[in-house]
Amino acid sequence: MTVLQKVTIPADYWNAICTNDTAFDHEFFYGVQSTGIFCRPSCRSRMPKKENVCIFKNAYAALGAGYRPCKRCKPDGLNLPAAEWVEQIAEWLDRHFTEPATLQRLAEISHGSPYHLQRLFKRFKNVSPSEYVQKLRLEKAEELLKSDTLSVAEAGRQAGFGNTAYFITLFRKTRGMTPGQFRTAQKPAEGAERHGNRQN
Ligand SMILES: [Zn+2]
Repeated sequence: MTVLQKVTIPADYWNAICTNDTAFDHEFFYGVQSTGIFCRPSCRSRMPKKENVCIFKNAYAALGAGYRPCKRCKPDGLNLPAAEWVEQIAEWLDRHFTEPATLQRLAEISHGSPYHLQRLFKRFKNVSPSEYVQKLRLEKAEELLKSDTLSVAEAGRQAGFGNTAYFITLFRKTRGMTPGQFRTAQKPAEGAERHGNRQN
């Protein structure tokens, strides 16, 4: 008799596993604790004991939990390769980096778990999603600061930094100067041009 009640497997999921129902192949995967292997619902491998089964929403969750894909039903082949998945997330960030991009939101958009997203992103991009976003925002801020029309706070805001103090601190930390100093440093060349051969 088990003392702890394990997470219940939905009846229709368990039924899908029992009947090798292909209709659920895109819905979930199941791992078998005793073998460390995960399968598609339709896999015709030996019926696992129900108490050994755990359900995963996608292949990454199963891989992340330490399960190996079944050689028979090849469950990881059903999904995008991880590198491609990460690439799609990065592309999304490239377009939306000025918007709030929490790990939770990214996970929802990319249909993964925040934990695996963080882990895989870092593996393929060498930076976390938030570091990736920060880099894009700082580059955008630099670009905006080069124009004289925006205040430092506004340039930060438009680049995606909601908090001006944080923007200035981060800018200084990564660039070795404040946004204001950066702007001033951009000026001499431009000023020289402005006072150049205007008489002609
Ligand atoms: Zn299998």
